[in-house]
Amino acid sequence: MRALIHKNNMQEKDLLREVEELSGQNLYACYQCGKCTAGCPLAFSMDILPHTIIRLMQLGQLEPVLSSNTPWHCAACLTCSSRCPKGVDLARVMEALRALLIRAGYAPIQVFRLPAELAAQLPQQAAVSALRKHSG
Ligand code: SF4
Ligand code: SF4
Repeated sequence: MRALIHKNNMQEKDLLREVEELSGQNLYACYQCGKCTAGCPLAFSMDILPHTIIRLMQLGQLEPVLSSNTPWHCAACLTCSSRCPKGVDLARVMEALRALLIRAGYAPIQVFRLPAELAAQLPQQAAVSALRKHSG
């Protein structure tokens, strides 16, 4: 992941600012209460929990954040955003991370390359949702 970011002339020190700009959120407002993670319906499948994503970014540890499956497993359901006592819209932060990664050339799923049998079984809405999430 680091190589992808560097290849596209993205400096790690600028990434945090970019995430804040894209999401419109102040990541340092988070005081790690964990309410976002406690309400997240997809937390069980994430390799880094939502509140830890914020903490790692506060600490400038972006490599694990950018390599995490968490932004991709996020369903943008807004539960975390509605629960945050500090007004941090974590769903927007996840969206910003996905956008940065897509711009850097990272695509966890090639929607157009799904096997035909699998594509035929997918609910149409799921396919459209995945296409939007993975194409920026
Ligand atoms: S709910 Fe808000 S303040 Fe609490 S850990 Fe999550 S982002 Fe941080
Ligand atoms: S928007 Fe994403 S991170 Fe937030 S609660 Fe929903 S699935 Fe979890």
